[in-house]
Amino acid sequence: MTERFDGYGVVVTGAARGIGEATARRFAAEGAGVLIADLDGVAASRTAAAIRADGGRAEAVRCDVAERASVDAAIARAVDVFGTLDVLVNNAYSCGEHHDDFTLESDEEWQRDLDVTLSGAMRCSRAALPHLMNAPRRRGAIVNIGSVNGLSYFGNHSYSAAKAGLVSLTRTLAVHAAPDGVRVNLVAPGTIRTPAWAGREEILTKAAGSYPLGRIGEPTDIAAAVAFLASRDAAWITGVTLPVDGGILNSNSGFTDALAAE
Ligand code: NDP
Repeated sequence: MTERFDGYGVVVTGAARGIGEATARRFAAEGAGVLIADLDGVAASRTAAAIRADGGRAEAVRCDVAERASVDAAIARAVDVFGTLDVLVNNAYSCGEHHDDFTLESDEEWQRDLDVTLSGAMRCSRAALPHLMNAPRRRGAIVNIGSVNGLSYFGNHSYSAAKAGLVSLTRTLAVHAAPDGVRVNLVAPGTIRTPAWAGREEILTKAAGSYPLGRIGEPTDIAAAVAFLASRDAAWITGVTLPVDGGILNSNSGFTDALAAE
């Protein structure tokens, strides 16, 4: 049976673990060759080896999306290894400390979050687009990983501003790349159980209660949405933001709880 991504070359940034890893595994399971591009080169190699052990095609490269040369080399590597680049998933991010007091925000933290989360996606897209535009059968696609933080207030000022910027970058690139058949979309996850939350089980349990669907998300929930948007099933979808959030953006639990307690 042919798989949705047979013959595809896919780059996923920040894919050594968490949502990026689940996404890479999903593409590999559906026939793609996947480049695990991560700041942690050792972990990236481990993840690629695990995917290969499961019968998938995967390679690893150490990549810092904050550095142009590193990004350009990673994209070139994918084209070299797979012979084609069809899908880019911009997943790497930076999220500095949250300050309740906004006046404590430092220039360095603000700059780092924007540089990795927003400018990193720009750098990767800039390097990838010429290849995506040449992808066979107009199948090139970019999927940006945003956040509910980019769409509503959830704290983390600089991270949230960067994620909101990604929504705009998604729209801009979608129109720019459309004549060449490249689609650009964004998935905005709610709370997802990944190593980013390690050691904070209590908060995750509490957070689950705020979700209309009664649980927090798993990395595979996001991987499924990314794969859909990258696939031919989404051939007429571009420039959209898809919340994959258990309904949290649609609920006003603070307000409704206050009403219930009246
Ligand atoms: P994790 O922190 O679990 O994994 C992120 C990976 O990205 C790590 O391997 C990390 O490497 C790597 N990375 C960090 N900086 C860079 C960089 N400069 N260049 C390349 N790779 C880098 O993240 P999640 O899986 O939780 O999150 C993935 C995406 O999902 C992010 O975009 C995040 O904003 C988004 N998201 C996550 C949510 C959640 O609740 N988990 C909610 C909403 C959105 P290292 O270990 O060396 O730092």
